Amino acid sequence: MSTPEAPSTADSAHARLPTPDAVNLIGLDLDGLASFCAGLGEKRFRAVQLFRWIHQKGEHDFDSMTDLARSLREKLKGRAVVQALPVASEQASRDGTIKWLFDVGGGDAVETVFIPEDDRATLCISSQAGCAVGCRFCSTGHQGFSRNLSTGEILAQIWYAEHHLRRRLGLPAGQRVISNVVMMGMGEPLQNYSALVPALRVMLDDHGYGLSRRRVTVSTSGVVPMMGRLQQDCPVALAVSLHAPNDGLRDDLVPLNRKYPLVELLGACASYLDAAPRDFITFEYCMLDGVNDSDDHAKQLVALIRGRVACKFNLIPFNPFPQSGLKCSPRERVEAFARILQEAGFVATIRKTRGDDIDAACGQLAGEVQDRTRVKERWVRILSPRLATQRETTPAGHAGAQPNVLQESSGEHQ
Ligand code: SF4
Repeated sequence: MSTPEAPSTADSAHARLPTPDAVNLIGLDLDGLASFCAGLGEKRFRAVQLFRWIHQKGEHDFDSMTDLARSLREKLKGRAVVQALPVASEQASRDGTIKWLFDVGGGDAVETVFIPEDDRATLCISSQAGCAVGCRFCSTGHQGFSRNLSTGEILAQIWYAEHHLRRRLGLPAGQRVISNVVMMGMGEPLQNYSALVPALRVMLDDHGYGLSRRRVTVSTSGVVPMMGRLQQDCPVALAVSLHAPNDGLRDDLVPLNRKYPLVELLGACASYLDAAPRDFITFEYCMLDGVNDSDDHAKQLVALIRGRVACKFNLIPFNPFPQSGLKCSPRERVEAFARILQEAGFVATIRKTRGDDIDAACGQLAGEVQDRTRVKERWVRILSPRLATQRETTPAGHAGAQPNVLQESSGEHQ
C-alpha cells in the first residue's frame, strides 16, 4: 500500500540509473565518495558536501545541491545517481511501528521496521535477502538464502526511513528521527561483512547519520571469525543469538553452532568486549515451549555464562509460523525463566511485543492501513519530546542507565 502524502524527495528517488555505468552514491562511505570525487578532479571537501546532501538532507537531485559548484553538478549527471529502493508496501501499526517491504529486484524483497518509543526511535535493518543460517525458529531461515544486499541497499533502508519520516512529520532540517539502528532484520549481517562495514561507517559518520557506536547494534548468530574482524574494523554494540544453553540443543536450533560451538562463541564474545562501545553483550534467547524454556535450561545458562562474559539477556516470546512446528512459551514460563537469571545476578528483560496488528501479516505485507492520520498524530506526540532532547550530541546514557536497545525490536534475526 502506498503512503498518502505527496511524494517526497526520499519517495521519488527511484529513477532508473541514467547510464549503466552510473555509480549509486548512496552506497559509498565518505572515503569511497572522496575517491569517486578525486576521479572527477574534485577535492575531498566537495565529497563532504555531497555526502551531507545525500545522508543529512536526503537529497537525490544534484541540481538541488545548491552549494556544489555548477561544474561538479554537471559532472555528476550521467556518471552518478542517488537511488533509493522501491517501496513494495508499507504497514503501520496502531502503536506507531511501521514495516516497509523494499523491492531489491529479481523477485526478492527485504523488510525494514521502524519502532518509535518514548526515549528513542529504532530502525531494524536487513542485510541479506533470505538467510543461509537456517535457524529453526526463524521464518527468514526457512525461506533460504537468495543473495547479499549491497552497501547501497543496506543504507537505502535508513536513508528512506529517516528522510521519508522527517518530511512526513514536518520536522525541520537538522532534527533526526532515527536514534538507534539494529542490524537485526533479514539475514546474518556478519555473512555479508564487506557490505556491512561501509554501511556502518556511514551510519556513524558525523557527516552522515551521526549515530554513536553504542546506538548501532549488529546482531549475529555467532560467526566467530567475523566477530573478531568487526571488533578491529568497526566496533559497535553486539547482540548474539544464543537460544540454547548447551551445544546439543544449539546445534539443532542454530545450525551454525556445529561450526562455531559455544566455547568458541563465548570466547569471541569476551574478546569483543575489549573494544566494544558497551561493556556487555546482549544475548538473545527465543522462548520455545518445551524446547529451551525449562528451569533446568535457565540454570544451565547461568552456569554457562557466569564469570565468562558480561552480558544482558533479552528473552524473546516466539512469533509462531506454521513451518516451524514450534510454539511460544507461556508467559508464566518466560517470567519464571527470567526470574532464575535475575536471581543469579543477570539483567534479563522480556522483549515487549510491538506492531502486533501488523505482525499478523508478517511476510505478506498486504492490506490497507485505515488509521494513518491517527498514527501520524501519535508519532508526532511520541517523537516531538524526544527529538527536542535529542539535539544533545552525546550518546544517551551508559549501559547501566540505558535500557536494552533491542528490547522492543521486532526483526527477523532474533
Ligand atoms: S535468526 Fe538470523 S541468522 Fe538465524 S536464520 Fe533468521 S535471519 Fe538467519
